Amino acid sequence: MTRTTFPISYEFFPPKTPEGAEKLRAVRRQLAVRRPEFCSVTYGAGGSTQSGTFRLVQEIQQEGMSAASHFSCVGATRESVRAELRELQAMGIARLVALRGDLPSGYGLGGEFQYASDLVAFIRTEFGDAFHIEVAAYPEMHPQARSPDADLQAFAAKVQAGADSAITQYFYNADAYFRFVDNARALGLDVPVVPGIMPITSSTQLLRFSDACGAEVPRWIRLRLQGFGDDTASIKAFGLDVVTELCERLRSQGAPSLHFYTMNQSAAVLAISERLGL
Ligand SMILES: Cc1cc2nc3c(=O)[nH]c(=O)nc-3n(C[C@H](O)[C@H](O)[C@H](O)COP(=O)(O)OP(=O)(O)OC[C@H]3O[C@@H](n4cnc5c(N)ncnc54)[C@H](O)[C@@H]3O)c2cc1C
Repeated sequence: MTRTTFPISYEFFPPKTPEGAEKLRAVRRQLAVRRPEFCSVTYGAGGSTQSGTFRLVQEIQQEGMSAASHFSCVGATRESVRAELRELQAMGIARLVALRGDLPSGYGLGGEFQYASDLVAFIRTEFGDAFHIEVAAYPEMHPQARSPDADLQAFAAKVQAGADSAITQYFYNADAYFRFVDNARALGLDVPVVPGIMPITSSTQLLRFSDACGAEVPRWIRLRLQGFGDDTASIKAFGLDVVTELCERLRSQGAPSLHFYTMNQSAAVLAISERLGL
């Protein structure tokens, strides 16, 4: 298939072991041929540490790809955020995914930032336009939001505080994405909203993960996955069809780009890209 220039980006998480780091280098080499716009690295998710994030963004940057650091502010102080952002700046990192982060259980008050919008405002005040700031968007609503409207207002607050663009939580219902974008546009929010794409490679992992982050796996997909039992080849083949069709629809109906949650694996993302001609 002819390759197009439709922009894509990848997300990785910091590996916990030297073997994981080595494996991820190979994954990056395989994925780099698709010329991503940037590669982002999660921060503080799943028990990973800030130093792991910073090491990995630096390594990606040194490999010649543009790296974006996720940056969460839960429990942080202005001073700690200032110091960490200076560190990233010194490494030449110019793109951030600015997040509140997830509250550990039992987390009470503490920290000087309540919401991601506070972080975005702080970065703009302290660092001007030194960073391109991405924020998170939730087409199917953030699980802790009071209502879809309240969540849209929270998204608006991040854009008004100075976010340049957004990456969504993953979803399998394209209508939810297009509705979210329409609602954002109706509020005058014109930043690009890039769909986050989660390949489907395993049934139990996907269902567990989706329940935790509030992403909906439609009933028909759930039932098909359950029907495959332990037949991983069928799960992967089905997942490839479903996610490729989703990406095709998003691309043809106006999504500005696609951000792949790689889960530090290359096979599914490469297969989807191949089918899409990316
Ligand atoms: C693209 C993407 C990348 C992510 N990367 C990471 C990562 O690297 N590390 C990590 O730990 N987590 C990550 N997450 C998960 C994220 O940290 C969680 O979803 C977190 O619970 C919310 O972060 P946020 O930045 O969206 O928060 P916010 O935008 O602050 O929203 C959090 C909640 O507060 C509500 N809210 C916001 N402002 C207000 C207000 N003024 N008044 C009342 N309610 C308000 C919102 O509706 C929402 O329910 C990522 C999520 C996405 C979509």
